[in-house]
Amino acid sequence: MTPKMTEKTAKTRLTSAGLDPTAHRTRVLLAVGNTAQPLSAVEILEKIRSTANINRVTVYRILDLLVEHEVLNRLDLGKHAQRFCLRGVERTEDHAHFHCTRCDRYLCIDAPLPPLAQDVLARMGLEVERVDIRLEGVCPACKKK
Ligand SMILES: [Zn+2]
Ligand SMILES: [Zn+2]
Repeated sequence: MTPKMTEKTAKTRLTSAGLDPTAHRTRVLLAVGNTAQPLSAVEILEKIRSTANINRVTVYRILDLLVEHEVLNRLDLGKHAQRFCLRGVERTEDHAHFHCTRCDRYLCIDAPLPPLAQDVLARMGLEVERVDIRLEGVCPACKKK
């Protein structure tokens, strides 16, 4: 995702998700929206703390709310580790992630998801609520080493 969210677009995004664009919510969304890779809650907290006084519980609560309202993606990485990144406005704008197995970094892949075999899913009686596609491999920085 291209990191260039403005305060105005952040507020518009919150409003269209049915949320009141409070100062803290806007800050959380901007912190995530202006980073090209999924961030952990701690990283988000650190980014916001450099400019505003906000506590951990507030940030966690806002992140939950933004995930619930489909503004952010939550990547569940096991062992209670989670990372957050911006969701597409439309479901078709959702994206996959790349995980570097050497440095453990996650990257958002700025391309549409590969199409799912809807007929197969239908035949199996599966109703998809969330898609989480993760590619694993080696990132350019690690490849150079
Ligand atoms: Zn790497
Ligand atoms: Zn992402």
